[in-house]
Amino acid sequence: MSAPLVQLTAKRERLADLTTGELASRLADHEDCSAAKGLGTAKKIFRHAFGNDALGDATWNCEGLSEAQIGRWAHPIVLPLSPRIALNVAEHAPSSDGTVRLLLRAPDNALIESVIIPADKGRNQPRTTLCLSSQVGCARACRFCETGVLGLQRQLSSSEIVDQFRIAQRICRDSGRQLNNLVFMGMGEPFDNLREVLRALAVLTDQHGFAFPGSRITVSTVGVADKIAEFFANTRAELAISLNAPDDARRNHLMPINERFDLATLIGAVRQHMPANRRVLFQYALFAGVNDSLQDAALLAQLVSAVRCRVNIIPANPGPDPALVAPSTDHVNLFVEALAKRGVTTLVRRPRGRDIGGACGQLAGAARRRVGDGAQTDTPCL
Ligand code: SF4
Repeated sequence: MSAPLVQLTAKRERLADLTTGELASRLADHEDCSAAKGLGTAKKIFRHAFGNDALGDATWNCEGLSEAQIGRWAHPIVLPLSPRIALNVAEHAPSSDGTVRLLLRAPDNALIESVIIPADKGRNQPRTTLCLSSQVGCARACRFCETGVLGLQRQLSSSEIVDQFRIAQRICRDSGRQLNNLVFMGMGEPFDNLREVLRALAVLTDQHGFAFPGSRITVSTVGVADKIAEFFANTRAELAISLNAPDDARRNHLMPINERFDLATLIGAVRQHMPANRRVLFQYALFAGVNDSLQDAALLAQLVSAVRCRVNIIPANPGPDPALVAPSTDHVNLFVEALAKRGVTTLVRRPRGRDIGGACGQLAGAARRRVGDGAQTDTPCL
């Protein structure tokens, strides 16, 4: 049985729980502060706290703030907002393929997983992707997913999402890499925690702080169709949608969300709300004998034909349902060829980090079996 549902448990006293706009409003409540002065000061605060974050923590006292040209009037408002990382590294699990699964522990003992995925093959410049979590557990109960088995335990705050990035960024820096892409494909359904995800996106992409390019961030949903308009209206991040079946009957079986938002409703919402200059990434996990026939490829091509998109094919990873297994590589190739023949732009995503339980759909299961509740093994924030 899943743990009881609770809302945000992290205290909202951390700097990365506010955008610069929200911080500016708080500063502008001060009697000597205009809106413009509040915004200018908020930008300086972000620059000081997060502008060189990969190198370590900023000095967070009156001297440090004064050196950063932040007026003394603002110090009593700013200093209680901690800029420190609040998550500890409970487990650092490297895979034989270079992927690293991180198990992070929050002050309330909630466990959160992130995955660092390096990609060197066939590239002039090595690239590194970080897979982020947006919730502890998940309520959506997709049949192929370990996280769904946990049920939803709680939402992550914006600062806890940003902390995953900061910890991974420091690990990458120590091994001479840098993070190039962020994907919200870890634990949780981002659209079920959209307010905090949007806030985290604003903090991560703010030019005065981490300045991560919005175009290099992808948020993945299982198809919470009534949040698609809000997503497109508030961020430039890319949208990925997990389809995983070419018709409603099979999608109902694999993904209970389909009973709430069926395929026609989902595709209709994308068509209605996607801005003219954008596209979506459809994800399709291949399960042998379930959704991988050549007729299924034809149905899938038809389904996505009315949307500007790319389709990512993902051979299934071992998950909680032993009946859901990947087809052979030859069959995956046939399926992709059938899509390509119908003009669908397709990419096959090969599994990464399977041996450490870090591949798609595997997060939470392996880690929880290995790490108890004791905090002795935790590494303080990097
Ligand atoms: S696939 Fe995503 S939405 Fe579905 S149960 Fe897993 S984490 Fe939740």
